[in-house]
Amino acid sequence: RERAQEILDEAARRDTNRLGVEAMDLLDAYGIPTPQGDVVDSPGDAEAVAEEIGEEVVMKIVSPDILHKSDIGGVEVGVPPAEVRDTFEDLVVRARNYQQDATILGVQVQEMVDLDAGTETILGMNRDPQFGPLLLFGLGGIFVEVLEDTTVRVAPVSEPEASAMLDEIESAPLLRGARGRDPVDEAALVETVQRLSQLVTDFPAIVELDINPLVATPDGATAVDLRLTLD
Ligand code: ADP
Ligand code: MG
Repeated sequence: RERAQEILDEAARRDTNRLGVEAMDLLDAYGIPTPQGDVVDSPGDAEAVAEEIGEEVVMKIVSPDILHKSDIGGVEVGVPPAEVRDTFEDLVVRARNYQQDATILGVQVQEMVDLDAGTETILGMNRDPQFGPLLLFGLGGIFVEVLEDTTVRVAPVSEPEASAMLDEIESAPLLRGARGRDPVDEAALVETVQRLSQLVTDFPAIVELDINPLVATPDGATAVDLRLTLD
């Protein structure tokens, strides 16, 4: 919790209330797994992080002015080690083309997550003036946009409540291994919902938060992207 407070204090010192993947340590601090990686501000440092990861990486532009990174070409997946430096430059150029004066905090170099072995879900929070922190869970990707298959609870949620959230979405059978897929680790998802519930209960300054995607696999759940707003 102290670690999480430090991260939020640091963010408050910048002149923005929007945080992105640079704040993923916040999730780590609450025991929500995130891919290995770091935010760097030079091509050389990007290469060093990629070397540490030791295989193809994902690279993302980190800017409070860019909400949907992939919309502006700000996410490159499967970047081989030899292309890390050039990709760093490309991402910054694309961000500048999108908005000349965008604040660019750097580029995140992140371990690849095997999306084929998993299911993209979304876990979010919206603080309602009347009801308090509303937790939202659903399938991610096209499912969340097209089917709007989501469910909501007021935080804090108990384990049975978190579990019920997984059960009550229409696409619950997908999580349980429909069509010959391996079922995802539901216990890990339930745990993640509860941990996020604790985080937003502890920090009322967080008014909005989205983990999209939260990748659920047969052996865990990993937060791959983060966006949040402070009051
Ligand atoms: P944004 O939502 O701002 O466009 P994301 O970080 O969510 O940015 O990345 C966009 C998409 O790229 C994700 O929905 C996911 O499909 C893919 N992606 C992002 N990070 C990873 C990763 N570490 N491993 C595999 N795929 C990823
Ligand atoms: Mg995303």
